[in-house]
Formats: sequence, structure tokens, C-alpha cells
Amino acid sequence: MTDRNQLLQAFDTLLQPERFRDYGPNGLQVEGRAEVRKIVSGVTASRALIEAAIGAQADAIFVHHGLFWRGQDGRVTGWMKERLRLLLAHDINLYAYHLPLDAHPELGNNAQLGAKLGLLAQGRFGEQDLGWLGAPADGRAYADGQALARAVEQALGRAVTVVDGKQAAIKKIAWCTGGAQGYFEAAIAAGVDAYLTGEISEPQAHYARECGVAYLACGHHASERYGAPAVAAHVATQLGLVHEFIEIDNPA
Ligand SMILES: [Zn+2]
Repeated sequence: MTDRNQLLQAFDTLLQPERFRDYGPNGLQVEGRAEVRKIVSGVTASRALIEAAIGAQADAIFVHHGLFWRGQDGRVTGWMKERLRLLLAHDINLYAYHLPLDAHPELGNNAQLGAKLGLLAQGRFGEQDLGWLGAPADGRAYADGQALARAVEQALGRAVTVVDGKQAAIKKIAWCTGGAQGYFEAAIAAGVDAYLTGEISEPQAHYARECGVAYLACGHHASERYGAPAVAAHVATQLGLVHEFIEIDNPA
């Protein structure tokens, strides 16, 4: 057992949120009961996750996508009212870490996705060094973007959208989990053969064809499923808490 503030301190010490310029507040977003015995981790603080955490008798929820983002209008109505009502009525703490959870060198989303895909990390690129550079850990090369996409589909258990580059062997790979379409040009500049992220927007298909770098959109949710449970399990072991990851499927 621990208390709400010790748990916050453990997450902050591990993830160092002060190092990032982020799109929302990192840390304790909604205050619940003081004593914490059980944490539920998940990708997004959706109503489905909150309801599942209530069912699992959690004292705290740990997520990558919290409730509050820059640019929201701030009204507590509709879906926001319902999510907050459930958290407050059941006295559950909500902890959310966005970019710090992407970036942690061993437990974060990028580190965990790289491990899941058998990629060895060799460097970083892009704004705030959030993008990762590497290569297949076993030294192999993929024949082309399609071959890499099949391997990623196997590992993640979902379809991948791929736009081929120059249809040559792929050795150098860059990746950044979630909605990191905007990092593609920096990945191209870093000299990779392929770039993996969660989503694709219209311009990236053209950049892939014109610059000869394969682009793989592996799912925003699917690419960010691994950091939250890794961090929550680590902190739960450290503080003697029970931890459970709850997957709420998302096709996006
Ligand atoms: Zn995300």
C-alpha cells in the first residue's frame, strides 16, 4: 500500500515531466482517495477504461492520454462530465503522462514498441528528441516496406497502412509512437529507409514516394499500448501495489 502523493513522486522521479514541453498537465490530473493499493493502467482515460477500473476496484488509474489538453474549451459537459463524475464518485486518482511516457529510455512507448518489433535503438531524432532511430536487432534487412509491414502486423496483431518508398532493402528504421506524422520529414533527414508511427495524413504518402522512404501507420492506439503497463508495473513493484493493465480496443 502507498499514498497518492508517494505514488505521484514515484511516477515523477521515473518520468521527469519537467524536462518536456507538453500539450497538457502531466502527473495527478484528478485527485481521489489518499490510500492506494491497486493501479489500473491503460492507454486513454476513456469512459470504458474508467468503468473497467471501477469494476477492478482500482484506487488509481495510470494512462498516456489523460483528460486535459491545451486548446480544450474547459467546459465540464457531455463526455467530460461523465468521465469526471465516475472518477469523483468512486474516489479514483487519475495519473496521466504524455510525452514523458513516450520518451522513457526503457519503459516508455517508443522503447517498448521497439522491443516488441525487434528493433535495436541506436539514436534519437526530431523535436525534443522524441523520435527513435535504430535497426533490426538481429542484423537482418527487410526486403522492402511491404515486408516490414507484414512483420509489424504479426507483432501488433492488426493491419498496417504502408506507403512504399524506393522499394529497396530496409535496414535503418525510425519510429515515434502515436500521432507523429509531423516527424516524418525529420526522419527522412536522418537518412532512414522506413518510418513507423501510429497515423498517416495526406501529405506523408507523397513524401514517402518522392523521398523514397517507406511510411508505416501502425495504429495510434496499437503503437502506444506498451508504455503505460510497463511503467505502472515497475512502480507497482517498487511500492508493493497490485497492478492490472486493461486493454480497451481502438481501431484508430
Ligand atoms: Zn498518443
